[in-house]
Amino acid sequence: MRELSNSIKKLVVWPLAGFVVVCLLLTYWQVVAAPQLNKAEQNNRSERMRRRVQPGRLLTSDGLVILDAREGAEGWERAYSDSEAFCHLTGYNSRSGLQKTLSEVLYAQGRYAHVWEDILHGRQVGNDIHLTINSKLQQRAHRLMRGKRGAVIAMDPRDGALLALYSAPTYDAATITKSEEAYNVFTYDPAKPEINRPLQGMYAPGSVLKIFTAAAAIDVGVADPGKKLHCAGVERIAGTLVRCRKAAGHGDLTLRRALADSCNVAFAKLGDELGPDRFRSYVKKFHLLDAADLPLPTSTGRMADFKGFKGDMQLVEASFGQGATLITPLSIARLTATLARGGEVVQPYLVDHVETPAATRLPSSQGKELGRAVSPETAQAVAGMMRSVVEHGTGGVADIRGVQVAAKTGSAQNPSGDPHAWFTCFAPYDEPVVVVTVLVENGGSGARTAGPIAVEILRAALETTG
Ligand SMILES: [Zn+2]
Repeated sequence: MRELSNSIKKLVVWPLAGFVVVCLLLTYWQVVAAPQLNKAEQNNRSERMRRRVQPGRLLTSDGLVILDAREGAEGWERAYSDSEAFCHLTGYNSRSGLQKTLSEVLYAQGRYAHVWEDILHGRQVGNDIHLTINSKLQQRAHRLMRGKRGAVIAMDPRDGALLALYSAPTYDAATITKSEEAYNVFTYDPAKPEINRPLQGMYAPGSVLKIFTAAAAIDVGVADPGKKLHCAGVERIAGTLVRCRKAAGHGDLTLRRALADSCNVAFAKLGDELGPDRFRSYVKKFHLLDAADLPLPTSTGRMADFKGFKGDMQLVEASFGQGATLITPLSIARLTATLARGGEVVQPYLVDHVETPAATRLPSSQGKELGRAVSPETAQAVAGMMRSVVEHGTGGVADIRGVQVAAKTGSAQNPSGDPHAWFTCFAPYDEPVVVVTVLVENGGSGARTAGPIAVEILRAALETTG
């Protein structure tokens, strides 16, 4: 009996073992290895497909074609114009910049496909993308930032349209893709030209963040522009030694004066009075640390959590833009725009519209409403204080003829050397149509280094917007 049962076992076990082996092999090929195989096949296939389709172009709002398509020996190829000014928008191949993120649009795939138009054309043609960027502003930013590292942003605060989005250092897409050697030089460049600094650069905001602290304090009702404060130059606040940029101290001063003169001690006291919970709630309301909803990689900001035994110290430092706070230039531009437009948070956007080969306009997916950060009265009060920065304070460089500018300067200490220079501003003061934010890495004084660049971009933007 035992023998019989053994031979039955053998009969069952061997086929069963074989079955298990086959199952394992199938699982391996279909589940474990499949994504890899698919990718390789898809890569070849999609590259071949890419070259067959005439891809769409990227155009600025004033009609400059910054990414074109030309027919070469092996099919359609990309051509760039004035690449050093626009490379961070176009990218340098199908795996970078808007060429990557808007590939579906440019190659008319998925919901951007238009089969009937292709049949009428007799071939597959992609869609053109019209950006909100003004070529003149972008090119001017490129000229002004020569030899510097940093970011220039111009935005229409009324709707969030980005008029300039420039990153330095820059590169020429055509040159770096010419040879492997050129590409290696680009990749290992210590200045990291591939980083799109306005959206990905993380910087200590320094004094430009004081407009946020002022807005939060005014909005909760612990301050108004006339609030009386005192600065002795060096003071211990919530256990932290705070040094004002004016070593002898400002003495008695109002909040308006404290912003105009960029007094650290006054703002440290204001942050301490505001407390961690209220400070944090306004960080959320302003979407201060949130990545923007743009078709390019955007970094999320960082700030201390104000908890534990270091919490009070962290809050005091954050109140004047130092400590653990790191933020993108776009966040500062958005903060400025929010105050310029009466307290409603703005959603920046880059694509104005998409156009099919038959000139049909497809609606671009514009971002959702982000709500209100502060009351119109609060926004107006802070805007007025920013006007004082220009008229009587550190932002005198923006006191220009013919237009009233409101601004804030910043020189942010950082571990990489000289302070980063910030300048953020909007104009005209009464009815803002342009916000400009400039950051120059290790530029020292915001007023001296970033200020003149911001003012020139602002002037040019006011000319183009009329
Ligand atoms: Zn002071």
